[in-house]
Amino acid sequence: MVENLPRPDPGLNRSVDKINLLGLNRTDLEALFIEMGEKSFRASQVMKWLYQDGVHDFAEMTNLSKALREKLSEQTEIALPEVIEDHPSVDGTRKWLFKLDGDNSIETVFIPEEGRGTLCISSQVGCTLSCSFCSTARQGFNRNLSAAEIVGQIVLAAQLLGWPETQSDRKITNVVLMGMGEPLLNFDAVVAAMDIMQDDFSFGLSKRRITLSTSGVVPMIHELRNVSDVSLAISLHASNDKLRDQLVPINQKYPIAELLASCRDYVKGKAGRTRITFEYVMLEGINDSDADARALAKILQNVPSKVNLIPFNPFPGSPYKCSSMNRINRFRDIVHNAGITTVTRKTRGDDIAAACGQLVGEVNDRTRRSQRFEISVEKVAS
Ligand code: SAH
Repeated sequence: MVENLPRPDPGLNRSVDKINLLGLNRTDLEALFIEMGEKSFRASQVMKWLYQDGVHDFAEMTNLSKALREKLSEQTEIALPEVIEDHPSVDGTRKWLFKLDGDNSIETVFIPEEGRGTLCISSQVGCTLSCSFCSTARQGFNRNLSAAEIVGQIVLAAQLLGWPETQSDRKITNVVLMGMGEPLLNFDAVVAAMDIMQDDFSFGLSKRRITLSTSGVVPMIHELRNVSDVSLAISLHASNDKLRDQLVPINQKYPIAELLASCRDYVKGKAGRTRITFEYVMLEGINDSDADARALAKILQNVPSKVNLIPFNPFPGSPYKCSSMNRINRFRDIVHNAGITTVTRKTRGDDIAAACGQLVGEVNDRTRRSQRFEISVEKVAS
């Protein structure tokens, strides 16, 4: 057995003795091959098979010796989540419920747009934060995802979308960590997974094509600055601490001034970082007045920023309503006229409950539904 290498998370492990190759970045893979008595360049060969060619059967990895292929199948595996539900929306959005282990399932959403395809992935089963407008918060927290489970969502989604013949046919061009969970509270696995996504022998996604969204775990934003150059999105949602304390309770620990200071710092980090995206969910009568818009523009004055207004996606039992389109437009104009690029996110997948955490929220009464979905899952698998 190879020692000193990350063990796969039992969640995705068919056999606890095997290493899931999907969780290893190039450095770890090279170390694995060296321990196996092989040359380190095997790592890039295997990464290419896994992520670019979509080949997951060692026997088909024809540029590896037969002996190595046998060794790999004895000691390692390529283990993906399983599809439990597959919801195609009329607008092309596709939302999946993926099963990890036991009762642990997560959501992954594909959003096709002109010239790009964005995959929204999860980083935790549930969430420890209790943002009052988010349905994931209602489900509590079960566990962190392993790097293999984070990368596995991309690999599985690529399979389900039809693996491309060539890199240029690739359907997933962007990845956003905006699904379930708080990525910065699962730091090591998330950073390892983003490393894999950026590797030229893997998906080769540039820093602009990976966006990590956080509710504002300030110390980890500073950490991230030292090890990564991905795009950062902040779930701001309010321009004063009193309101943000209620909407995004982690604000009580890391208030807005500290959060914005960490953002300024992040932009100054590695070369080429341009600006931070601030997400702002539009809640009727709560954070959507003209005065709120002016206050938002004011606090962002000294941060290179872009604002993304998100129409609130209601879910059963949610205490809020979405602001009217007129209100959202007026709010957008005020912030925009203050010199900050401001866009309203298009609502997608309304017919499939595509808001964060909604699908898993429905899972509590899923016993019958899962039978219904067997049919669509079979269709997907074939
Ligand atoms: N924990 C991370 C990532 C998950 S949430 C974060 O807070 O950024 C991803 C985005 O969806 C966040 O901006 C979040 O505030 C928003 N969101 C959550 N629930 C929503 C809802 N019901 N309607 C609209 N946006 C929502």
